[in-house]
Amino acid sequence: MTDPDLVIVGAGLFGLTVAQQASEKLNAKVQIIDIRDHIGGNAYSYFDEETGIEIHKYGAHLFHTSNERVWEYVNRFTSFTDYVHRVYTTHNGEVFPLPINLGTINQFFHSAYSPSEAKALIEQQAGEYADVEPKNLNDQGIKLIGKPLYEAFIKNYTGKQWQTDPSELPASIIRRLPVRFNYNNHYFKDTHEGLPADGYTAWFERMIDDPNITVTLDTDFFDDSQSLSKNSLRGNVPIVYTGAIDRYFGYELGELKWRTVDFKKRYYKEVDHLGCPVMNYADPDIPYTRSIEFKNFNPERAEVAKQNKTIVWDEYSHFAHQGDEPYYPVNTEADRTMFAQYAAMEKKEPDVIFGGRLGSYAYFDMHQTINSALIAFEKQVEPLLNRQNR
Ligand code: FAD
Ligand code: UDP
Repeated sequence: MTDPDLVIVGAGLFGLTVAQQASEKLNAKVQIIDIRDHIGGNAYSYFDEETGIEIHKYGAHLFHTSNERVWEYVNRFTSFTDYVHRVYTTHNGEVFPLPINLGTINQFFHSAYSPSEAKALIEQQAGEYADVEPKNLNDQGIKLIGKPLYEAFIKNYTGKQWQTDPSELPASIIRRLPVRFNYNNHYFKDTHEGLPADGYTAWFERMIDDPNITVTLDTDFFDDSQSLSKNSLRGNVPIVYTGAIDRYFGYELGELKWRTVDFKKRYYKEVDHLGCPVMNYADPDIPYTRSIEFKNFNPERAEVAKQNKTIVWDEYSHFAHQGDEPYYPVNTEADRTMFAQYAAMEKKEPDVIFGGRLGSYAYFDMHQTINSALIAFEKQVEPLLNRQNR
């Protein structure tokens, strides 16, 4: 593409949403680059050639939102299946339903508590944490479900997942999970939920099926040997940057910490190996946090579902080192301070808009990423492009 009006670094959901809006609303010519060989960022999926099973390459992605604007927006590009996410967890050789609900509580205590009896029990088991404002994941977890359940289902799982003392992790991580005093075991509490009917990548391709938008893959913004690099573009064209913020500033203040996930892949000649899409493992003797059986996300794909073949991935979580994919921000106090300092440096870059999970050093679900991209387009990208054209 000659002389784009806007360059977007990263073909993830943030970049794709901004590109789609810039073309539709401003008729802007948009050049997207990505270092990977595909679009979609971490939400990318492909169909396994042998089995036809849709594999979410960077870990299981389930779409859910209560944001009507986002729901309307995504439905322009894909329809959704009626999949409802349910997760089970194995503890002490027994399988329990998640998120913690009355079924989990009664199975754990071999009891038949009513909702109000269970609430009273949990409050008593929260002890001194019941009335304090929780400052971290440990305090919040105990406050929500009391000590015995916290120790059984949260403490060791969180230890495996984060390798960080729960008292150093933000309370918000655990607030993502509902706690219910009834038998509802829907994992998410959002109004809308489902999986893209033709797969994630078909959805993303439709977002940028537009002559105004060009995508160049296998291209690193920091590689000066190619023309779409930071050094050749900065100051010459507006840029939306969705890569890592510390990388943009040459790690001047140090590196922000991330957690990554390794996947061990298992193939079985079985119709159904786990009996559910996701099985968590709450105890430390199993070194992985959870197993994913991808075909069980799409029971509506009948031919694929009934065949005698299945694929299971076990997730091993650890701190990201150089070369690992950064997945979840560790977000300790020290990280948050460093991020605030990097964010202040953005002021020195008037023609660059930072966004997405890597640019914001934040965990965003897909709907939050899309929402923040729609807002960034209106509040930052559109005014910047209008200024440039004046
Ligand atoms: P990304 O998807 O990371 O895209 C950024 C892009 O920038 C990448 O493609 C990257 O290659 C590119 N890039 C980076 N640096 C450069 C460079 N130097 N040059 C060129 N390109 C570069 N959300 C849900 O709603 N439901 C889920 O179930 C869910 N599960 C998840 C599971 C895991 C393991 C992870 C990690 C995330 C999950 N998410 C889920 C969150 C979801 O992945 C994000 O909301 C979304 O992918 C964020 O989009 P993004 O564009 O901000 O970032
Ligand atoms: N969690 C846990 N036990 C579980 C499931 C979740 O302790 O069986 C905690 C864990 O700290 C995790 C957080 O709850 O990071 C949020 O859970 P979610 O399923 O949203 O995890 P993620 O999407 O981060 O894998």
